[in-house]
Amino acid sequence: MPITDIKILQQAIHRSGQRMKIIEFNIGRHTLGDQIKQMTLQIRLMHIQDRPLEKKTWKPRPPVVTVMGHVDHGKTTLLDALRHSRVVDQEFGGITQHIGAFCVKLDIGAQVTFLDTPGHAAFSAMRARGANLTDIVVLVVAADDGVMEQTVESVKMARESRVPIVVAINKIDSPKADVERTEEMLMQIGIQVEKLGGDVQAVPISALKKTNLQQLVEAILLQTELLGIGGDPTGLAEATVVESKIDQHRGKLCTVVVQRGTIKKGDILVSGTSMAKVRLLRDADGKLLDSVGPGYPAEIEGWKDLPPAGALVLQVESERRAKEVLKIRKEAKEMEKLDEDAKVIQQKTEQHHREYRDKLEKKRRLGFFKMRREGPRQPEIPRDDDDTPSLNLIIKADVDGTLEALLDTLDTYQSNECKMDLVHYGVGSITQTDIELAETFNGIIYAFNVDVPPNLNEVLKNSKVEVRHHNVIYKLIDDVREEINNKLPAKE
Ligand code: GDP
Repeated sequence: MPITDIKILQQAIHRSGQRMKIIEFNIGRHTLGDQIKQMTLQIRLMHIQDRPLEKKTWKPRPPVVTVMGHVDHGKTTLLDALRHSRVVDQEFGGITQHIGAFCVKLDIGAQVTFLDTPGHAAFSAMRARGANLTDIVVLVVAADDGVMEQTVESVKMARESRVPIVVAINKIDSPKADVERTEEMLMQIGIQVEKLGGDVQAVPISALKKTNLQQLVEAILLQTELLGIGGDPTGLAEATVVESKIDQHRGKLCTVVVQRGTIKKGDILVSGTSMAKVRLLRDADGKLLDSVGPGYPAEIEGWKDLPPAGALVLQVESERRAKEVLKIRKEAKEMEKLDEDAKVIQQKTEQHHREYRDKLEKKRRLGFFKMRREGPRQPEIPRDDDDTPSLNLIIKADVDGTLEALLDTLDTYQSNECKMDLVHYGVGSITQTDIELAETFNGIIYAFNVDVPPNLNEVLKNSKVEVRHHNVIYKLIDDVREEINNKLPAKE
């Protein structure tokens, strides 16, 4: 649908420094089934432009890490080990919950945020929504198994998203572990570890025995420094949903990882067509937070509807503004739906036309054979003035499809010189009626893949009716054609 008349209604600068445009456009004529309506719907869109980074408010932040790798190589075990063996503040002995993301704190104070759903399904779901949340991929490769199919896929995905990799060579406690072989296998798929002169950090670990987990986190932090990962904790917040769920007691919960700004209690958030007034913020330990800044995850209570994983969350200044944004977005969604409906109606109309055409065609054909379908009838008395030879046929076939094909082909063999009269046709074995009809009309029974039941052999013999058995369509047709030719008067 052509979009016309784009009009900028308003340009404004947010207090966050973001430039904002409210635009309006007509979408012109709208087709809804067979009705063409001149619907000049107007949609207003809010467009928030990227704000240039202001150096003075930029601060380092925890990196956001996704754990990937082949099935059974130990991703879940590693995440569990990290979640439970964290250097958390000792006075809080809370039980760590799965909320979709958690933070690991080193005793030096640095932190790493891990997305708590391993594997590429989660990573792709995020990427499909355009969420580029992951800063670093931890590639888990079991030392007793080496590089496998999903290891290769994970590397491919990380590369496509331009996310650097830190390798965790897992299961070094296993008697079959072979770290060197694993490193060489990695080399073959283009991952050159530092030990072999490359620039990819690889840490040998045992997720099960919790060996070298601190080294792994340190390697991630080193990578973070190299990348210069940071964010701006001021201004209106922007975050990404990593998990949404409904809790029996606490209602609608949604875990986000903040990308910029800081989310505080009482803030107003919008995501797609859902909004929240932040009632409570919690971390993975269930600890209540006052605020959450860039790189940190938090579970948010206060959503009216739940946004899906991967959705972008934006803070707005007021509830009024949120409602306005939601209204605009809902209108846009309804427009999309209207478009979809129109498409469905059009498809249905076309389908209806097709069916109608087919029905007409069938009717025409049935009309053609109508006379012949009406069961036994009296033989026509040959008229003196009509000495056109005629061939009377009865066709029986094993299945509908074949019968259709035979009838269609015979349809094209009508000749002026020899009348072809289809006395009767049907699916199934030859019956007594078929034989009687053939006898009455002096016709031939063409049997395609069907038999004469033994109990009718005697009847058939007495009737002198001829049954021609075939199991190849064109041979049956040839037979009919030859019969027609035989009936034609010899050409002088
Ligand atoms: P995922 O499919 O990658 O999430 O793998 P899991 O974490 O479910 O682990 C698969 C199996 O490997 C489980 O039986 C784990 O107990 C085992 N496993 C994971 N890490 C280690 C490890 O460091 N050493 C040993 N020996 N086994 C491990």
